[in-house]
Amino acid sequence: MEICKLEHIRKDYRMGELVSPLTDINLTVNAGDFIAIEGPSGIGKSTLLYVMGTLLKSDGGKLVIEGVDVSSLNDDQLAELRAQKLGFLFQDSNMIQALTLRDNLLFTQKIGKKSGKPTRNVDELLERFGLADRANFLPGQLSGGQRRRAVAARSLIHSPSLILADEPTNDLDKQWAEEIITILKEEAQRGAGVVMVTHNSQSSQMAKRRCRLEDGKLLDLE
Ligand code: ADP
Ligand code: MG
Repeated sequence: MEICKLEHIRKDYRMGELVSPLTDINLTVNAGDFIAIEGPSGIGKSTLLYVMGTLLKSDGGKLVIEGVDVSSLNDDQLAELRAQKLGFLFQDSNMIQALTLRDNLLFTQKIGKKSGKPTRNVDELLERFGLADRANFLPGQLSGGQRRRAVAARSLIHSPSLILADEPTNDLDKQWAEEIITILKEEAQRGAGVVMVTHNSQSSQMAKRRCRLEDGKLLDLE
């Protein structure tokens, strides 16, 4: 089943000089796919995930998520789509600083429940991400690696159909880096489409399909 399709996607930034990190991106993500996209820092990996996640509008091309051309959606519909279908493992995803880790996850769960979304058990997720003994810590009391795992755990609460992971193994030791990839693989096995971008080719070697972002295009690697 096709979850997401990008056709000739282009993205330009105009900050004085014109920068075009994405010029012609073509990619189909099916249920069960785990796709790793490699590329050096500054090449456009985060930009690509922002566009796929409808957080940034492209300057050309077509993005279809679960059969819907996202250009046909208004801002409210886009927000709804993100909340219902997408899971973001981004570094800058904030937790609510005044709530404990567990309450942060419960809060996210509660918001989704109202709109009838499936939810997972928060304590099981914390356990899976090695955070059970940090459940009652405030976000500010967690290490960088623990915060990263916390964001990852939170992003899976509603079993998203498209998971977008931006350098998810940064700040993690080798064991946890591998464990995060294993978890992402399991998500693909349950039927999610997973797209991970990374400058770390070691992480990407564990993915089912590897691509490289170069000159604004995706090249398949073997
Ligand atoms: P990566 O994630 O691969 O490190 P990015 O997608 O963050 O790369 O950035 C790609 C290029 O686009 C870089 O040259 C960066 O400076 C530029 N860029 C990123 N975000 C913006 C922005 N909001 N405005 C202008 N230029 C940007
Ligand atoms: Mg980046």
